Amino acid sequence: MSVERTFSIIKPDAVAAGKSGAILAKLEGAGFRIVALRKILLSQAQAEGFYAVHRERPFYGSLVKFMTEGPVIVIALEREDAVKKLREVMGATNPANAAEGTIRKCFAESIERNCIHGSDAPETAAVELAYFFCTLDLGL
Ligand code: GDP
Repeated sequence: MSVERTFSIIKPDAVAAGKSGAILAKLEGAGFRIVALRKILLSQAQAEGFYAVHRERPFYGSLVKFMTEGPVIVIALEREDAVKKLREVMGATNPANAAEGTIRKCFAESIERNCIHGSDAPETAAVELAYFFCTLDLGL
């Protein structure tokens, strides 16, 4: 298995609660290397674009409002089998269903305010990395 890159967001609930450091420590502890990282406040248009795949879902408006309520930390991550491993270390979307020790089990509040995003496939990761980082950022 070769080294792969994936994309993550520490969501506004976790940034506001001061959990970013603990989440980054869990990611590094799971063998991820931080390639690039930035703290930003998403605009409504940026959040809508990022979650466009969910625009027909009933929670879309609420999700966009949540993702713009405060700063997020966007992260480019690297390790072997990164996409799959990040999904494992994040845990299930709903923290009530997340396995013990996963980031969402430890830090998430609810199915919506679930503290972290992680790309769901290598193709999605490439699109999401390019949405937030330029080529120069990703050269590190
Ligand atoms: P993920 O890949 O595990 O993040 O899950 P999805 O891609 O299915 O959903 C994207 C995000 O939408 C989730 O991380 C949650 O923040 C939110 N979300 C997903 N399902 C629900 C839901 O049933 N209700 C609400 N309010 N939010 C949801």
